[in-house]
Amino acid sequence: MHPENHAPTDGGTAPAHTDPHVLLETLVTKGRRGESATREEALAVLALDDADTLDLVAAAGRVRRRWFGRRVKLNYLVNLKSGLCPEDCGYCSQRLGSKAEILKYTWLKPEEAARAAGAGVSGGAKRVCLVASGRGPTDRDIDRVSGTVEAIKEEHPEVEVCACLGLLSPGQAERLREAGADAYNHNLNTSEEMYGEICTTHGYEDRKETVGMARGAGLSACSGLIAGMGESDADLVDVALELRALDPDSVPVNFLIPFEGTPLAERWELTPLRALRILAMVRFVCPDAEVRLAGGREVHLRGLQPLALHVANSIFLGDYLTSEGQAGKADLEMIADAGFEVEGAGTETLPEHRTEPRTDLVTVRRRGAGTDVAPNA
Ligand code: SF4
Repeated sequence: MHPENHAPTDGGTAPAHTDPHVLLETLVTKGRRGESATREEALAVLALDDADTLDLVAAAGRVRRRWFGRRVKLNYLVNLKSGLCPEDCGYCSQRLGSKAEILKYTWLKPEEAARAAGAGVSGGAKRVCLVASGRGPTDRDIDRVSGTVEAIKEEHPEVEVCACLGLLSPGQAERLREAGADAYNHNLNTSEEMYGEICTTHGYEDRKETVGMARGAGLSACSGLIAGMGESDADLVDVALELRALDPDSVPVNFLIPFEGTPLAERWELTPLRALRILAMVRFVCPDAEVRLAGGREVHLRGLQPLALHVANSIFLGDYLTSEGQAGKADLEMIADAGFEVEGAGTETLPEHRTEPRTDLVTVRRRGAGTDVAPNA
């Protein structure tokens, strides 16, 4: 477990914010300028009372609207390969030795994956995320996924395709980019300090390196976290600041679903209001990134899901689109009822300054820490 009281990792010297009103006004001002919350401010957000959480959501909403208006981007997961993983990530139902009752299958064919992707696109998804269990792809796997990316792009040229295949080897990100993939997802999941407690078969540096490889190949980087695994507030803030330093375009925030048959099966430690505070903290640390409400939103946010739309600008539509489609419809109704609109295929998700050519970004990033754009790790 991460100790609460260790030296700041960001060198921040901001004063303690005991007045929630002052804290929130400060964070709104900074967030609307694209500046990140300091470590101390982020910790103060997580320490707010339940009674202050509605004000927190309203403040995060002002930052969210500055960069993303009232748009909600929809994403859809297609599981290319499920179960049978040799790694031991404690939160994962597909891990080595998992007794969770899940579907296990190996590699959907490109046409099957394209058909599954079509269900998401017809539900309004703008991005399809191709997920495969396993430590990382072989070169043969990259061939397969390249064929799948091409098949999806042929049928749905407008859809963004993100691959999530685990740890990459040199050259693989370039091949995915050449095949037409737009993005690559690899989550940091938790703080470096806590990482050894949730996984022993690979390390934190491996994960950061893969995010760097994806970016280096010109893929849009997607990297986020899982909350509710027994971490402290300091762990959550540390992973958010690590993500800020990696500067991914999208940051999925997952809330642990404690699957039976995994080491974290009994762990239910989040409340809906706590989940909102975590989401708001990530928004203030990564104000102009696509913050995505990801796994576990239904079970942890429950009736407060519409409030989370004021903080996150992106959500996953569930697998349920492939069955009755009712839950997907319920999501679309929730978005409309809360006064938001589904982001169309022709609209750029990210603010203009995040879509500049990469060479420009590298120049800007060389200004270093403490400027409004974090250095690339
Ligand atoms: S590497 Fe991926 S699929 Fe395998 S156990 Fe870890 S999270 Fe699950």
